[in-house]
Amino acid sequence: MERRIVLKVSGAALQGDRPFGIDPAELDRIAGQVAECSADGVQIAVVIGGGNLFRGREAEDSGMTAATAHTVGMLSTVLNGLALQDAVEARGADVRTMSAFQMPQIAEPYIRRRAVRHLDKGRVVICVGGTGNPFVTTDTATALRGIEIEASALLMGKHGIDGVYTSDPNQEPDARRYETLNFQDAIAARLGVVMDSAAISLCAEHGLPIHVFSIQSDGAIVDAVLRDRIGTRIHAGPTALAS
Ligand code: UDP
Repeated sequence: MERRIVLKVSGAALQGDRPFGIDPAELDRIAGQVAECSADGVQIAVVIGGGNLFRGREAEDSGMTAATAHTVGMLSTVLNGLALQDAVEARGADVRTMSAFQMPQIAEPYIRRRAVRHLDKGRVVICVGGTGNPFVTTDTATALRGIEIEASALLMGKHGIDGVYTSDPNQEPDARRYETLNFQDAIAARLGVVMDSAAISLCAEHGLPIHVFSIQSDGAIVDAVLRDRIGTRIHAGPTALAS
């Protein structure tokens, strides 16, 4: 069981099968598991995405000024983060939402030492606002926060895939899952669908292992965090296919 982790929850995970926005049932399912992990003594920081509401790159492609488009994307993570805060609190956990940019009426500013103090006190920390800078994604924010708070693992909860495969398992029936994947192999494979290469590089540089798993099924987060049941572990060790 990990002692302190950073968990990435993408906007897609909150969206479920809806075309847009937040599915309350998915939100509650994720929140219940975050609260359960916290109650079991795991210090848990969640970095929340915003892709269910707004993606900077897409808005940029349709003509919006790039930096503004990414800022709107970052703001969308605040909406998701507040919704998650509410749902995790409703499940009985203490929560602090910390923002990468100032919005003092809504969330605490992200201050590393303060985040660590909240975690030590058993509070769930929800990080909103990504990195606070345009042109990157919340994957990079997750890697940064994980390294900063000295997490023992970064848990990458995916929607639509349960690990890293030799090719796209939705297209190729022969695709095989990696049980473990060396950081350098992961970077060389350009795993865009799983995680940004910038984020993987940061984890590689700082030796933060990445656990890729499907966030979709009931109990998936609890299984990944408490029982180490994950699809693929990206780490400094060797690459091995699942048997
Ligand atoms: N974003 C950003 N800086 C950050 C994090 C996010 O500019 O540090 C913007 C970016 O435009 C991105 C959007 O916020 O498209 C939503 O975040 P992301 O795509 O990472 O959400 P996810 O796909 O994980 O739901």
